[in-house]
Amino acid sequence: MAQSKFEYVRNFEVEDRLLPNCWIVVRVDGKNFSKFSDLHEFTKPNDRRALHLMNHAAIIVMRNYKDIVMAYGQSDEYSFVFRKSTELYNRRASKIMTNVGSLFTAAYCVNWKKYFDSKEMKYPPSFDARTVLYPTDTNLRDYLSWRQADVHINNLYNTCFWNLVQKKNMTGQEAEVRLRGTVSADKNEILFSEFGINYNNEPQMFRKGTTILCKRLIKSEEKGSYTKPEPVPIVEDIISDTFWITHDEILSE
Ligand code: ATP
Ligand code: ATP
Ligand code: MG
Ligand code: MG
Ligand code: MG
Ligand code: MG
Repeated sequence: MAQSKFEYVRNFEVEDRLLPNCWIVVRVDGKNFSKFSDLHEFTKPNDRRALHLMNHAAIIVMRNYKDIVMAYGQSDEYSFVFRKSTELYNRRASKIMTNVGSLFTAAYCVNWKKYFDSKEMKYPPSFDARTVLYPTDTNLRDYLSWRQADVHINNLYNTCFWNLVQKKNMTGQEAEVRLRGTVSADKNEILFSEFGINYNNEPQMFRKGTTILCKRLIKSEEKGSYTKPEPVPIVEDIISDTFWITHDEILSE
């Protein structure tokens, strides 16, 4: 095709091809979900509908991008791990993260009704997206451990906070003052002695977040046939070695 005299402007675009041979992680996070969750009356501290909707959106992303070997989600965020050798969009960072981010957002909106029934979505939510490279398996595992440690810290705090607010009629500020300076052991003790809650018995999904792996499911027991790889949500401790030994296919991708 003949070049127009305007074509030169393409040279203003910057190259953003990601370094080869590294794990590519795309993390999406809801914009101002403190407000979005309030306005849509999410159950505090953990709304199951919202978490399942996040998982659903993540599954749609994984079905579209077969090079995602694993995803991990908690709260209003999801991380997608692409295999090291992916050549998706020629590894262009902006292409990868904007497509993942907008597909996730669209899937979240399209499936809203399945989880929130007649509750109207009052405004369109958005999710930011970033791309991070991890050169070693240890770096990748530490990244995922960091996210799972984050949900633990936040959820322990939030469980205390909302019990104080909901059952002791404290204001948010009073609950915050009560929890200021406390360490994990103190929070476990508050939950146990004041509310009879053993934190370790709280739902696993709230404490550990959700991991999605692609698995071939058994289609027919007799014929020994399997489905194509299908994203399956599970709740597991991904910090432990056991997880990585059980699912050793992830790091070998
Ligand atoms: P930012 O735009 O900087 O991300 P944010 O308000 O989204 O701001 P986050 O640190 O991402 O801040 O926190 C997300 C907030 O969304 C949580 O603090 C929590 O209040 C709320 N939230 C997310 N998921 C749920 C859920 N399943 N149930 C209840 N609340 C939720
Ligand atoms: P890519 O993912 O690479 O962008 P693409 O199929 O979206 O692939 P584009 O070059 O962006 O390729 O072209 C968009 C195509 O979408 C057009 O070729 C056209 O077929 C279709 N399209 C977009 N807007 C309209 C419209 N308003 N009416 C009809 N067709 C449209
Ligand atoms: Mg934030
Ligand atoms: Mg957020
Ligand atoms: Mg967040
Ligand atoms: Mg297009």
